[in-house]
Amino acid sequence: METKRLPIAGYEEVIAFREDACGLRGYLAIHETTLGPALGGTRLWRYADENLALTDALKLSRAMTYKAALAELPCGGGKTVILDHEGLKRAAAFEAYGQLVESLGGRFFTGPDVGIIDDDLVAMGRATRHVVHSTSAGRDDINQYTAMGVWHGMRACLEFAGLQKARPDGRPIRAVWPSGRVAIQGVGHVGLSLGRILVQLGFPLAVADIDAGRARRAAEELGAEIVAPEEILTLECDVLAPCALGGVITEKTARELRARIVCGSANNILASPAAGEELKRRGILYGPDYLVNAGGLIRGLEFDRLGRADSTATVEKIYARTRRVLELARQRNTTTLSIADELAEAFLRAARARGGFDSPPAGA
Ligand code: NAD
Repeated sequence: METKRLPIAGYEEVIAFREDACGLRGYLAIHETTLGPALGGTRLWRYADENLALTDALKLSRAMTYKAALAELPCGGGKTVILDHEGLKRAAAFEAYGQLVESLGGRFFTGPDVGIIDDDLVAMGRATRHVVHSTSAGRDDINQYTAMGVWHGMRACLEFAGLQKARPDGRPIRAVWPSGRVAIQGVGHVGLSLGRILVQLGFPLAVADIDAGRARRAAEELGAEIVAPEEILTLECDVLAPCALGGVITEKTARELRARIVCGSANNILASPAAGEELKRRGILYGPDYLVNAGGLIRGLEFDRLGRADSTATVEKIYARTRRVLELARQRNTTTLSIADELAEAFLRAARARGGFDSPPAGA
């Protein structure tokens, strides 16, 4: 395999890799390992060009570092993106990629992200021990905990916006919400799991997916309305839950949204900080993505490192963290994302000063 280290400021290691025989091309980024070995999924996607793939790997790996810091987990941030194309020989490509992961000697642990199927994980697993597959917590389990965390973040936003009063069982009080609807963009692994939680709580749902079959199956199971993918972002609803890909909220979409809250599982939901500013200007609450979507990471670490049978209580902490971020953002008249960044950076600074992961710094 051909590999090239790219020197990129702020990143510990970025590797461009390719193996022409199987059509493998991609980027592996290790953002920071102060808190522990870098952890992050592997994504397979059709990018319009290689620069977009590299940018995605950089942004996603940084988000993993911040996610671990806010959740106070002993791991760093990394991510790989692999370019999907007609010539990709999947089994050979993922095995070759597994060799690259193995060659990093445990500095980077990976698992599934968008576009990855179980066969890919099995192929990677032939070459490396550093991939999360069936021997670990299991993919469904991880997805469900991610969805559970998103719900806790959403619950904090709903309460903060006065759209839902706190009740011990988390059930919404319908009388106080205007439309009450949650619009889910992308009903893949997490989007569908989130839909299942919300439907149990009594929320009416609207769903969209570029995979029409998936949208139909989800709508049937959840009793949800199907909306065209190009319409979901501007649907009138209480909560827009982006659970597909990142960058969906641009300044323009932020101006056009008809939701009161944006809170979903996708990484890097905001295309730019300016999009976050626009949401704030319009009074739309944003549950920062890497804060609310940490449930799967929390679960994976607790299962693998601590052997915990259940991570419900730890994942529930996302509720209090989100409340805190929302409150600080209001007090300081700034965006929720800048508060989340600030808290994560404070945690990382303190850990760097200590020389690694320890107890959280005072006040974080
Ligand atoms: P997935 O691939 O199973 O689901 C994504 C779904 O989004 C697919 O059904 C796809 O067809 C659909 N989609 C893509 N573009 C779309 C568009 N423009 N409009 C509507 N639908 C679209 O992925 P997943 O594992 O459910 O993850 C969803 C998101 O959550 C990703 O951004 C992922 O990085 C993030 N995330 C996932 C986890 C996890 O535990 N799986 C954890 C943290 C973050």
